[in-house]
Amino acid sequence: MNYKTITLVLVTILFIYNVIIKFLMKSSTKRSVPENVRDVYDSEAYEKWQNYSAEKINNQLYGIIAQYAVFMILIVFDVFALISRYVGENDILQAIAILAFYELVTGIVDTIFGYTDTMKIETKYGFNKTTKKTFFTDRIKEFILGFIISFGLVCLFVASYIIFKNWVLLAFTGIIFLLILLVYFLTPVFAKIFNKFTPLVEGSLRTKLENLLNKNGYKVKEIKVMDGSRRSTKANAYFSGLGKTKDIVLYDTIMDVLTEDEIVAVFAHELGHGKYKHIIKSYAMGLFQVFLIVVLSWYLVSNFGIVRDFGFRGRNYGFMFILVFSVALPYISSLMSLITKRISRKFENKADEFAKKEGYGEYLISGLKKISRANYSNLNPHPVIVALEYSHPPLSQRIANIEEKK
Ligand SMILES: [Zn+2]
Repeated sequence: MNYKTITLVLVTILFIYNVIIKFLMKSSTKRSVPENVRDVYDSEAYEKWQNYSAEKINNQLYGIIAQYAVFMILIVFDVFALISRYVGENDILQAIAILAFYELVTGIVDTIFGYTDTMKIETKYGFNKTTKKTFFTDRIKEFILGFIISFGLVCLFVASYIIFKNWVLLAFTGIIFLLILLVYFLTPVFAKIFNKFTPLVEGSLRTKLENLLNKNGYKVKEIKVMDGSRRSTKANAYFSGLGKTKDIVLYDTIMDVLTEDEIVAVFAHELGHGKYKHIIKSYAMGLFQVFLIVVLSWYLVSNFGIVRDFGFRGRNYGFMFILVFSVALPYISSLMSLITKRISRKFENKADEFAKKEGYGEYLISGLKKISRANYSNLNPHPVIVALEYSHPPLSQRIANIEEKK
């Protein structure tokens, strides 16, 4: 069997797996809701949620089918090799052409189904605030960022391969990890490309948040409100910054939905993550995953013969990147998810328990219920989906955990 056949088989297995997941998701919309979260939706809202979920899942299913069909066509007919032959001999030009083409094709398919999701379904159920203009500018920004990142990664890898030779695995893993840290620090900068931030006005909420952080040995650098309502009615909040100095970001939508004490409860939970060093531990798990991906990339680059099975005459770094990220990465991350998501769900329970210890248990429960209502969350996801994909335990389990821990 050659590598092309193996790739087609792997992609097909992945496709079947994703379709099964969507069917399990659909079946969960019909299951009955656990006792302790029955008050989140009234019966009319719940029926609306069921229809909303079914429509979204169907759209995702069509998206998966379309992406699969496109990828199969590109591979079966050696389209990537044809493009690279058209571009000529230069390695870098070939990588640019192939990556730009791939980003463009997948970007168009994603945009079509993303458009239905955001502009049709989310609008129909009253969540969407995105204008057509914002939607398309976001997509273009994403395409440019995606291309720069993927092309940058290929260049970095090729450079480390040439410079570090036998040490390439270690060197490249180190480089990628530094990049991940860099992205972490740059996320607030990236966020400014997509959103506007204004400082939270002086007042009791500000004082309460500052007191909570100071009491636990943290300093607040800034508390900012983000204009999440420009895109969606969905609510969220987060910390940024490593170490003891934190920026707090509140979506303007969360301020409409939650009371002051409930907002503080959400941050008590976030603080729990900081106290128990969850963020650093997650990064360590991420580093291991990066290492596996680098090993795979190295294997593909070192075995030039692989790409011959796809119609290439010589090596091709751009195509290697596509194989790694579209075929190998989903396998690695699905397998790793089983472990990392499980640990992550444990972390969430620990953070909830911390918020309870700080005296915010009841506020956290009522806050989480309101956020679930505002975000139209699934109250009873299929246990298989929870195991595979949920970084947070389902609401009813979180509430049970908060209530039970003394
Ligand atoms: Zn959390």
